[in-house]
Amino acid sequence: MSETEHHHNLGTVPRLGTVVMKFGGTSVGDPERLKLVAERLVATCEAGNRVVGVLSAMGHTTDELVELAHEISPNPDPREMDMLISVGERISCALAAMAIHDLGHEAISLTGSQAGIVTDTVHTKAKIVAIRGKRIQDALDKDKIVLVAGFQGVSSDSLDVTTLGRGGSDTTAVALAGAIGAEACEIYTDVDGVFTADPRVVKTARKLHAVSYDEMLEMAASGAKVLQLRSVEFARNHNVMVHVRSSFSDAGGTWIREEDERMLEQAMISGVTHTIEENVYRVEGTTPSKLFSALAEAQVNVDTILVNGDGAIVYSAPLEDHQASEATLNALGAKWSSRDDLGKVSVIGAGMKSHPGVAAKTFEVLGELGIEPEIVSTSPIKIACHIAMADVERAVQALHSAFGLDTEVAERGHE
Ligand code: ASP
Ligand code: MG
Repeated sequence: MSETEHHHNLGTVPRLGTVVMKFGGTSVGDPERLKLVAERLVATCEAGNRVVGVLSAMGHTTDELVELAHEISPNPDPREMDMLISVGERISCALAAMAIHDLGHEAISLTGSQAGIVTDTVHTKAKIVAIRGKRIQDALDKDKIVLVAGFQGVSSDSLDVTTLGRGGSDTTAVALAGAIGAEACEIYTDVDGVFTADPRVVKTARKLHAVSYDEMLEMAASGAKVLQLRSVEFARNHNVMVHVRSSFSDAGGTWIREEDERMLEQAMISGVTHTIEENVYRVEGTTPSKLFSALAEAQVNVDTILVNGDGAIVYSAPLEDHQASEATLNALGAKWSSRDDLGKVSVIGAGMKSHPGVAAKTFEVLGELGIEPEIVSTSPIKIACHIAMADVERAVQALHSAFGLDTEVAERGHE
């Protein structure tokens, strides 16, 4: 008998461990799909696991709720916004619990607050500050499948409901997995895993078997939409193994885990990402310290920063932060302009650390296409170029192929 069996003294069913299984909006998109999710949760439980399900809102529920708010008010109160948009996830969880009951299993649905997810008070973009997992553990000890509403928590200061930013159910799932010591966090979604590029843009893009936390952070920060950025930060900081996979098949997806030798040896570049959802600002008449403190205060998520000798400060930020940026810049009395005609293409790979020449090759490929980057920013495992939005797709395609990602050779980490 294994140690685990001894420990929990569970008789005939060997306990494998605790698994957090997160299902995205498409996966719970209608009643039929919700029932399939319930079946999957039950099957995992019957295989001997303690199961926590984290669910997103059904289909486009969150978008619809946001629209509804804007039909009522041009500038909805953030606290009330969170009351409103946190509802979608609760619906999914309550319905899934009902379906699980019908399958003859015990289940309980919990709001973020009931699940002990404590956040700060930044409405619509709250950060998790603590997880008090006792209620979940107690329910698991009673052999219940626990369903936690994703994307939400409760502020310990105001006791108000908060939400974690769009895509925040990923973060709920990973943070919970870390807090309750789950073996893995499975993210079930409508794609097969993490790809070498957006398959809608690059037909030859392929699923990666494994990526390191650092690579996934760079990918999520530069346009890969498969995981919320903050969930990857959590995974890295708490060493949670994340498995991104399709909810419509049993095929394995992409593992996000600690970097290992094999990852480094195989391909130099693991992906080419892109985004067209940024504005680039040019600001004069203030200092970097004043500017970036004010932007931080306004919760603007600044990405690339460029400080020129000529006194101009250039930075990029997501489209969704445009209003906040504008208000901040005006309040500072700065002279500023913004561009919405630029996109960003990023080449990412842990292998880059030990292979010189990636920048040279990137510029060569862009040069052959007649594309001049307007801004270049780098990290040890990333080269990002802001280029004309109209050029983004062909740049991604050319870089993907130039770095050998189109071929079998790059099928990294495949067993
Ligand atoms: N339902 C929320 C959203 O659409 C959170 C999530 O699905 O992760 O952003
Ligand atoms: Mg998502």
